[in-house]
Amino acid sequence: MLQIKNLHAKIEDGAEILKGINLEIKPGEVHAIMGPNGAGKSTLSSVISGKDEYEVTEGEIIFEGENINEDKPEDRAHKGIFMSFQYPVEIPGVTVTNFIKAALNETRKANGLEDMPAKEMLALVRENSAKLDIKKDFLARSLNEGFSGGEKKRNEIFQMLMLNPKLAILDETDSGLDIDALRIVADGVNSFRNEGNAVLLITHYQRLLDYIKPDFVHVLADGKIIKTGDASLALELEEKGYDWLLK
Ligand code: ADP
Ligand code: MG
Ligand code: MG
Repeated sequence: MLQIKNLHAKIEDGAEILKGINLEIKPGEVHAIMGPNGAGKSTLSSVISGKDEYEVTEGEIIFEGENINEDKPEDRAHKGIFMSFQYPVEIPGVTVTNFIKAALNETRKANGLEDMPAKEMLALVRENSAKLDIKKDFLARSLNEGFSGGEKKRNEIFQMLMLNPKLAILDETDSGLDIDALRIVADGVNSFRNEGNAVLLITHYQRLLDYIKPDFVHVLADGKIIKTGDASLALELEEKGYDWLLK
């Protein structure tokens, strides 16, 4: 599904941050990326989703067999790449439900599909909000306006379930996940994952991986993947930290 080959990237006019990343994600897999602060984890997720403050200087990002290096973020989204905090804006007067309905129909349109019939949409909203224990009054609130950390997280995971992307990239590094938010993310990811989709989960909270069992764990340090293992690597990192790998 996703192949990253020798990916180098920098900030416009800045130093190189990603220094040769190789990564392959197949359908049905969950990959976790861990690593010390400043390693380039968030940069990697931004570069995959196409944020324009970063520049790819070398290498390739191939999604479903197609090089997407030059694609705009919205084109990548329409092809099925979802990134958390893709829609972090506050939009007074636009409800959680109406926003996601519009986003979903826009994605359908970009893929040559008609709007989803209202009845089907309603059923989908009900199904996914039930999975995340989202109440009606939350769905009727203005998008992100006055949302708590947990509410933002819930909305984000709701957006993921509604859009049902092929590849979901979740960057959980900066969000100060409390136990409640951790469960929301874990339940959401676990109900999302299936044989046809994939998840790239970026975190420095080993605890999250107690709830979401990754197929692979990668350690990113100074812009490179320095170690790859299975779920047990996360436990080893919790016990030993990163220093033994950095030497
Ligand atoms: P991580 O998510 O692993 O903590 P980041 O990807 O956020 O790491 O950052 C990697 C390095 O790149 C850090 O040194 C950070 O300061 C720098 N960096 C990332 N994005 C920017 C940016 N937009 N402007 C300036 N420096 C940046
Ligand atoms: Mg950081
Ligand atoms: Mg980060």
